[in-house]
Amino acid sequence: MRPVLASVWFVVTSAVAIAQPSPLVVVATTTQAGDLVRVVTAGAQNVQVTALMGAGVDPHLYQPTESDVVAMNKAHVVVYNGLHLEGQFDSAFEALREQGVTVYALSHPVKAAGFVLDALEEREGMRVDDPHFWFDPRNWQLSALNFAETLAQRDPTNAAIYRANATAYAERLARLYDWASAGMRSVPAELRYLVTSHDAFQYFALAFGWRVAAVQGISTASEAGVGDIQSVVDMVLTYNVPVLFVESSVPPTTIRSVVEAVRAAGGDVRLASRELYSDAMGDPDSFGGTYIGMFAENVLTILHAYQCAGVPVTIPEWRDTDLSLPDELLEAACDDH
Ligand SMILES: [Zn+2]
Repeated sequence: MRPVLASVWFVVTSAVAIAQPSPLVVVATTTQAGDLVRVVTAGAQNVQVTALMGAGVDPHLYQPTESDVVAMNKAHVVVYNGLHLEGQFDSAFEALREQGVTVYALSHPVKAAGFVLDALEEREGMRVDDPHFWFDPRNWQLSALNFAETLAQRDPTNAAIYRANATAYAERLARLYDWASAGMRSVPAELRYLVTSHDAFQYFALAFGWRVAAVQGISTASEAGVGDIQSVVDMVLTYNVPVLFVESSVPPTTIRSVVEAVRAAGGDVRLASRELYSDAMGDPDSFGGTYIGMFAENVLTILHAYQCAGVPVTIPEWRDTDLSLPDELLEAACDDH
């Protein structure tokens, strides 16, 4: 009897193994890319999502670790920002493509639509693309919809889920854009200057009628020079810019140097009491750990900082029903400066 039972048991287990296909493995590079992949794949069967970079990590400088390379080699789809934001990943992506892995740049549909901006600086005499396109929610809508389509073709079983998720998310992004626009445009036009450590906010500024200045260019890979600091100091003094901002993924040293130099020259400037998210979002469990939360928190950080500097602003009513604003972000916390 025993040998018969053993063979029945064997047949049953192999039938179970056949009924469970191996999961679709998706690996994302940045925190923003990881969030978008999670949104688009929510509720899909048998999809495994991993993001490589954590909160506060600078993607311009991030070197893929050995375990990142192992994870990408096991992936069916690798999702990245593109436009050389992940400057150290180029050779890894090349090798993955040769292996037949789908390597998808979220910048692809934005570039195709003609919405990618030139960087404010040239590199080796060449104009380069500004990689921070996600800071216009209308660009992120294009990325979400196009990525869902790419994934639907790679994994037809879940196609309807990917498409429905992306469509619903695009509507939330439209509401986010309207909310941010109403707030950012409430600041008097002559005071709309966003001054930060590195040039991550061109798209954001253009979307809402602001101007930007930064100590470093679009990449943090090159060091800021004394001349870069002085030109930002001159600009802050000339236009009476009331507030400067530190970014969560860039050391605050250069912006603090600007504040000191402006004050030494008799200017009145303060540092915002909260940091801006630029190239990395917050911790996964925090409000700023989602794209929508990160974006909203940045808008509130800017508006509250202007409020603290005595500028009248309007904070519009929050209408996203899937994500509520935490109480601590509702009121400006003005530090003595
Ligand atoms: Zn950047």
